[in-house]
Formats: sequence, C-alpha cells, structure tokens
Amino acid sequence: MAESIKKRIAIFGSTGSIGRQTLEVIDAHPDLFEVEILTAQTNDKLLIEQALKYMPNAVVIGDERKYETVKAALIPKDIKVFAGESALEEVADFDNYDMMVAAIVGFAGLKPTLKAVEKGKAIGLANKETLVVAGDIVMQLAVEKRAPIIPVDSEHSAIFQCLIGETRNKIEKIILTASGGPFLGKKPNFLVNVKKDHALQHPNWAMGAKITIDSATLMNKGLEMIEAKWLFNLNPNQIEVIIHPQSIVHSMVQFEDGSIKAQMSLPDMKLPIQYALTFPQRFDNKIPRANFKKIPTLSFEEPDIKTFRNLSLAKIALEKGGNIPCVLNAANEIAVWAFLNNRIGFLDITAVIEKAMQKINYIEKPNLGDYFESDGEARNFAASLIKI
Ligand code: NAD
Ligand code: MG
Repeated sequence: MAESIKKRIAIFGSTGSIGRQTLEVIDAHPDLFEVEILTAQTNDKLLIEQALKYMPNAVVIGDERKYETVKAALIPKDIKVFAGESALEEVADFDNYDMMVAAIVGFAGLKPTLKAVEKGKAIGLANKETLVVAGDIVMQLAVEKRAPIIPVDSEHSAIFQCLIGETRNKIEKIILTASGGPFLGKKPNFLVNVKKDHALQHPNWAMGAKITIDSATLMNKGLEMIEAKWLFNLNPNQIEVIIHPQSIVHSMVQFEDGSIKAQMSLPDMKLPIQYALTFPQRFDNKIPRANFKKIPTLSFEEPDIKTFRNLSLAKIALEKGGNIPCVLNAANEIAVWAFLNNRIGFLDITAVIEKAMQKINYIEKPNLGDYFESDGEARNFAASLIKI
C-alpha cells in the first residue's frame, strides 16, 4: 500500500551537483519517493554506485564506451542499461515515472525534457538552458499536455513560491537576485587575467563547472532572465536584476499595488529541489535555518553591466527573442568550455558570444528544427573563432 503512493522520480543528470542533491533530498524522505531512472554522461563509477543503492528500473550512460562496464555491474541486479544520446529520449518516454528532475547541463537537456513534457510528466526543471533555447515551444507543449513545470533554479523557485495564492493578481515586475559571483566589484583590467581556478571559487554556492563560470561572468543571471520570461509569462521590461551578495533573498515579486514578496533562506539548493519534488506541500527537513541575528546585513546594488557585458548581451537576446537566445546559449557553452580548458581568457567569453549573435541569421519565429540548426551553426562559428 505505502509503496504505491510514493512519487516515482527520474533524475536526468543524476551524477551532477543537482542530481546528487536530489538524491540527498530523497534520502531524507524515503517514505515519499522512489527512484525509477538515473542518467549520467561519463561518470560510470558514480552511476553504478547510485544504481546499486536506489535500484532504479533503468539507467542511461551517455558515453557509449562505458556501456559494457555499466551493463556488467547492473544487469545481474535486474536494472535495464541503455547508452548513447538517443537513449535519453527513449527512457524519458517510459511510463514508469511521475516526475523528471531535469538536471542535465546545457542544450543536451532539451530533447529528453521535451519528451517528458510530451508525455505530460511533471518536470522539476533545473536545466535552464531548455527554456533559454526553446522556451516558447516547451511552455506551449506543457500547456497542451498539462505537464506541470516546477522550477528548481533557486530564483525561480522563489518567484514560484511568492506567486502561490496570487493567480488573479498582476505582477508589476520580478526582481531576480544575483550574488555577483567571485569577481563582484572587479574591473576589466583585473578580469583579463583571471584563470579558471579562481573563477570556479563561488562565494555562496557549490555547483557544476559550467554554471559556476556562468555565475562569474553573470551570464547565469542573463540566462535566468530568459528562463523567467517563459516560466512566468513576463515582458522583458518586467524583469529586473539586482546584486545581493549574501544570497539570502532568492528573488522577489512586486505586485500592482507596490507590495513586494520575497522568499528567503540560507543558500542551499536542497530547499528548492525539495519544494519542486513535494509541491504543493512543504515537509520538514534538516537544512540549516537562516538566523537573522547572525546576518546583520542584507545589501543590494546595481549590477555593473559595463564590466559584466554578458548580462547586456543576454538582455538583448531576451528582448529580440526568436533564435537569438539559442545562439547566445550555444556560443556561451562553447566559450565556457574553451575557458575551462585554458583555451581563451575570461573576457574572450563575451567576445565570442557577441560575434556569434551578430553572425548567425535572425529567425523571428523558429520551429524546433530551426533551434537545432541555430544551435549547431552558433557552436561551429564559436569553435572557429576559438580555433578548436
Ligand atoms: P553538473 O555539471 O554538476 O552535472 C551535469 C549532469 O548532466 C551530470 O550528471 C552529467 O553526467 C550530465 N551531463 C553532462 N553533459 C551531458 C550530455 N551532453 N548529455 C547527457 N547528460 C549530460 O551540473 P549542475 O551544476 O548539476 O547543473 C545542472 C543544471 O542545473 C544546469 O542547467 C544548471 O544551470 C542548473 N542549475 C544548477 C544549480 C546548482 O546549484 N548546481 C542551480 C541552479 C540551476
Ligand atoms: Mg539560479
């Protein structure tokens, strides 16, 4: 009896930062959830370890060279093993789960997430790139298929929580908070020389490498503006970004009467992950509580968009729409990869994205195929600039 009421979870990207924290949330509430699907790109060792602990119905290893190893470890345990990119969609099409936690990083998360939406599954959405690239298509399909999309990104979870009970009330604007990352207050003459080890040191959050660099360049906040537009059906001029170095206020909503609601806590992704998993209910947990007697200051300041130009580029993409956010995202993925591999400098990331946005032909109303084409073109162009 108890078995049947558990929510069945599929974690796409289970070996990453969000994936691992999702499993920690599940560990804390074994009576509420069971794990049906786990996927990983390269980390076969951790995927096997996770599968042996949670005994899912199926796993996917993206890197086909690791297939034999994973199969040898899990087939004797009656766990189905799949490999390769197309297997992600195949498994997303299964009937045996209730909610997908979309925790793959980058454009690679789009196809499996779309498949789950098409099936009418609930989505706990961490993979913001899915909405940045094809937010119109994903949200439209979610409405048609009645697939609830519940944000995991902490800012969007905050806004989502602020909107509970406010369905009939007009949003004047949302205020997305940004920590400012490790280079808050720095100028280009400093940034020109920064190396990846420094950029990977985020003051408040421990996350995967790509989003950590995006946080250092402020592209993360740019992507989040576009994510917010689609999630909450906003106009670009209703989305404001403010630097809040303490990361206690996770974002705010200002209503027509001028009233502002905020959601606050210590920075810990397990809170928005748990909320997405248990929505609309809240459950007790052991996540450390914010104690305002020990947090003397909550401060806010204007972002320095002259220095952190990625935020301006993302704003242009937000306003232009069409395939431009897709191009911005693709060029950013290539540029961040190149920076992480010591191929380009920190400020070159912005230059690569800007050139790609100028180069790739604008499409006002792209279909899904157009998005895949623009993504490929922008990647190739960015790679040619970097000479990879
Ligand atoms: P991560 O790099 O730690 O993990 C990424 C996961 O995706 C891994 O399991 C990896 O195996 C898998 N993966 C990578 N490339 C893949 C590919 N090409 N195909 C299939 N699977 C692939 O990343 P993360 O920090 O957990 O972030 C995941 C997503 O969540 C990102 O979109 C990020 O923007 C978003 N997010 C993360 C945080 C955070 O605190 N980490 C917060 C908010 C939003
Ligand atoms: Mg965020």
